[in-house]
Formats: sequence, C-alpha cells, structure tokens
Amino acid sequence: MIAGSPKSAPRVVEPADAGELAAALRAAADAGEAVLVRGGGTLLAAANPPRRCDAVIATTRLCAVHSYDPRDLTIGAGAGMTLAALAETLAQHGQFLPLDAPFPARATIGGTLAAGWTGPRRSAYGRARDLLIGSTVALADGTLAASGGMVVKNVTGYDMGKLYVGSHGTLGAFVRANFKVLPMPPARRFAVSRFDPGSRERLDAGLHALMVPPVALLIRDGFAALLDGDARGDHRPEIVALFEGSESSVERGVRDYRSTLGAAGVAETRILDGADAAAVFQRAIDSVVAPADGQEVTLLARGLPSEAVHRAEAARTALGANVPVRTLADLLTGDVVAGIAGDAGALARGVARLRDVLGRAQIVASHLPAGVEIDAWGTAPSTIGTMRALKARFDPHGTLAPGGFVGGI
Ligand SMILES: Cc1cc2nc3c(=O)[nH]c(=O)nc-3n(C[C@H](O)[C@H](O)[C@H](O)COP(=O)(O)OP(=O)(O)OC[C@H]3O[C@@H](n4cnc5c(N)ncnc54)[C@H](O)[C@@H]3O)c2cc1C
Repeated sequence: MIAGSPKSAPRVVEPADAGELAAALRAAADAGEAVLVRGGGTLLAAANPPRRCDAVIATTRLCAVHSYDPRDLTIGAGAGMTLAALAETLAQHGQFLPLDAPFPARATIGGTLAAGWTGPRRSAYGRARDLLIGSTVALADGTLAASGGMVVKNVTGYDMGKLYVGSHGTLGAFVRANFKVLPMPPARRFAVSRFDPGSRERLDAGLHALMVPPVALLIRDGFAALLDGDARGDHRPEIVALFEGSESSVERGVRDYRSTLGAAGVAETRILDGADAAAVFQRAIDSVVAPADGQEVTLLARGLPSEAVHRAEAARTALGANVPVRTLADLLTGDVVAGIAGDAGALARGVARLRDVLGRAQIVASHLPAGVEIDAWGTAPSTIGTMRALKARFDPHGTLAPGGFVGGI
C-alpha cells in the first residue's frame, strides 16, 4: 500500500563503500530487522512501503566513478551517483547514457535500475537493463555478488545482474553498476506543437509512417505546457518529438515530421536545438512524476505503440466528462501515463477504473493524504509463484523491503 505518512522513523545508515553496505545488511539480517535501500528517495512511490522498516540504507556516499575508459565507451560507478553527475562526467568526453529518469539531479544510478525506470528514448537506444553490462549487488545476507564486467559480452550462464533491475531493492542492493555508453549525437532538435483533438486520428496514422523516426515521440494531454509562451489559455493537447543523429538525418527527420503534422492540420511547430532541446525534453520526462494538483496519483501502463493514442484517449475519458485525467501517450514505446487528482475516495475509485481500462498499471507517483493507501501494483501477474520462490531464495528472512513488491512480496 502507498501510505500518506511514514508509520515510524527508521534509523538511517550511510555506508561509505560496498563493504560497509554489505556489513550493514548482514547486521540487519542477523538482528531480524527489515531494511529499505534508498537512492534519491523519490521513486519510492513506485513500490509499496515495506510492512516493516527498521533501517534505511542510503547510497548517498557510493557516488564515485570506479572506472571510465572513454575509448571503450564503458563506465563503472557507485550506485549512489546521481544521473546528473554521471551525465556531466560523460559529457566531458562527448558521451552520454540515455537513462531518461525524472529529476536527474537527485535520481541515482541504483534507484533508477532498481525501480526499472525506462525512458522515452528506449526504442532508439535501449533500456537501462540493456545498457547495463555489469553490476555488484549486496545480497540480504551481506554477500557481495558481482556479475558481468566492463565489456559488452562477458556473461556465461545466467545473466544475474539483470534480475535485480526492476526488483525495487527486494532482492539485493546495487552498490555499483557498469554501463556501455554512447557518443553524443552531433545534432539534436526538439519539436513542440499544439493540435486540435479532432486531428488526433490523422496525426496518429501519419506519425506511425514517418520515414525518419524521432528518438522520442509523445502526446501530452492535460499536462502543463512545456514552453511558457504556450500556456496562455491554450489547453489543447501537445505533441512533442526529439530528433537526434547526424545533422543531415535530423534535418531530414524534422522536415518530414513537419510536413506530416501539416498534412494533419497542425499549423505551428516550434523547434528548439542543442541544450534548449535537451532541457525541455528533460522537463517532459520530469512532468510524468512531478506534483501537479495536490492530492494525486499517476499510473503507468505498458502496451503496443500502435495502440498508445487510443489507450490514452480511453483513459482520458474513463472517469466521465467532469473528472479530468491527464495523459501521456508514448507513440514509440507504447507507454501510457494517466494522472488523476481528487480526494481519497475519488483517487481509489479512479485508480481502479483506470486499471479496468488500461490493464495492469503501476503507480509511479503519488501524493496522498495521511493514512490513505492504494496498492502501487494492482493485480499480480501469472508469474507471481516464481517471483515468490525467488524472493524466498534470495531473502529468506524478509530483510529487504518486505511487502514492497508486487503481490505483497
Ligand atoms: C512521485 C515522484 C516524485 C519525484 N520527484 C522527484 C524530485 O522532486 N526530485 C528528483 O530529483 N527526482 C524526483 N523523482 C524521480 C526519481 O528521483 C527518479 O525517477 C529516479 O530514477 C529514482 O531514483 P532514486 O535514486 O530516487 O530511487 P529511490 O526512490 O531511492 O528508490 C527507488 C527504488 O529502488 C530501491 N533502491 C534505491 N537504491 C537502490 C540500490 N542501490 N539498490 C537496490 N535498490 C535500491 C528503493 O528501495 C526503491 O524501491 C520523483 C519520482 C517520483 C515517483
């Protein structure tokens, strides 16, 4: 359940290195305590709060770069390093890692991996788990388990490192992660347009037939405008696209995109480039989880890219004409985000109804009044038995965030 206020104040431990973190976990396990691993502490709403929590292990001090060879396009860093610090290190060598999590100044590598966050550029560059080539994880009994390494192919047998991605810290604590990184694209353009809801169908059809696809393509409906100048009373949906690559391919992509938009009746498209493009794109990602309306809940559902626009439209109208639902449809990944505001009862009913419409939908952000609880996961998948067996094997005493994962694991 997501609770509006913490039940008690657990002690906070900030280990200085992997050994200290493992020792803290072992001590907690030996004492029969329950532990929550925390990075930036902000995606905790994406799992249920643990049933018990005696200690929080914060990864703040595990923030060093352990190895970085720009010629090899690989980097290894502590789990507590923020995505912004990582990006800054890589940018000095003209490289980047497209993890695309919200609020990178606070989001950590470990938290982003543990939360299984996957951003809107993943169809172009891959997900965090695809870019992860090695990791070290502290298991519940304090064992440090390393998998993979610093080269792209060095796993024989089960690729255990991937198991912890998306496990929300319930199987182990990331202490270090190694990634393959990418050369920064020479050109980048971000396109923003408003459109009349009536042209949604035509737009959807045209965008799925683009010759040079963008690396991100989102329709935002009910979210605050990305560019200040657009805010003046214009509440029409917004379509945004990010193009990256060589100057010529980006130019061609933007031209093709503009003419597709024009054919669907979208008159004006604003184009940003370079750092401005990157900053506004980040704002679009942040807005998925940023507080907007006070008491609110935001759900994320996966689906087919070809159905994202229809699914978002179904979510938008799911609660009737008087209850607005803000939605985001990702036309390249199929993700649909739906956010609602209201009192506790309305939020609980709204989440249930949106899950009817969208299928399995996970809560990714919530701002709830004290005492209100809404399950972050919804119905457990058919593989729940295997997951329970894994948890029992990795964490037999329920040390790591007991009850936080799907199905009360
Ligand atoms: C409601 C909401 C609001 C947000 N607001 C902000 C904001 O104001 N500012 C901001 O900077 N970001 C914000 N974010 C974004 C968030 O910081 C990022 O999405 C980030 O990717 C999560 O990383 P984290 O380090 O914060 O993870 P955390 O929230 O600390 O952890 C996410 C999950 O991973 C587990 N975990 C964390 N570290 C580890 C580890 N090393 N090993 C194993 N498990 C681990 C946790 O127990 C938890 O289950 C927000 C997100 C949400 C959902």
